[in-house]
Amino acid sequence: MGSEIKMSNAPEGLAGQGFFATTLDAAVGLARKNSLWPLPFATSCCGIEFMSTMSAHYDLARFGSERLSFTPRQADLLMVMGTIAKKMGPVLRQVYEQMAEPKWVLAVGACASSGGIFDTYSVLQGIDRIIPVDVYVPGCPPRPEQIIEGVMRIQDLVGRESVRRRNSEEYRKLMESYYVK
Ligand code: SF4
Repeated sequence: MGSEIKMSNAPEGLAGQGFFATTLDAAVGLARKNSLWPLPFATSCCGIEFMSTMSAHYDLARFGSERLSFTPRQADLLMVMGTIAKKMGPVLRQVYEQMAEPKWVLAVGACASSGGIFDTYSVLQGIDRIIPVDVYVPGCPPRPEQIIEGVMRIQDLVGRESVRRRNSEEYRKLMESYYVK
């Protein structure tokens, strides 16, 4: 058993004898990206891959994301995994709206991203028809490595995001385009 503890890299900043100075954005981004709390919205087979991603072999805890949240109010990463029937759309939308800012969305697998093989009247052809998506993970199903890759791409966004972006004009317009108040 190794006793090595891998530390996150410090953000860019100014280092000197006994001090280190950086921006608030960088410090908050570093904390947020390494403590994402996912809400697994799993409806079918991709959810099984997520179970594997959480288990010992792949161990999403290595990324600070072992604390799953089944209440939207205590989650900041919505992971949508599986086929989303149109009937389920309003439920997904409500879950998204109940999450507090800041929040991010990961569409895991072909079904969540585009409806996948289910090009039918009853299946939503991608969750971005009803909520904004930050990162898409391809595959049917994606392997756990791909899901981890998706989480890491979310981490990149979170780490770089200004603490004020959510108040920006661009973000406001995005929310308006989805009729999110
Ligand atoms: S993308 Fe494939 S594996 Fe994932 S939920 Fe759809 S059919 Fe199942």
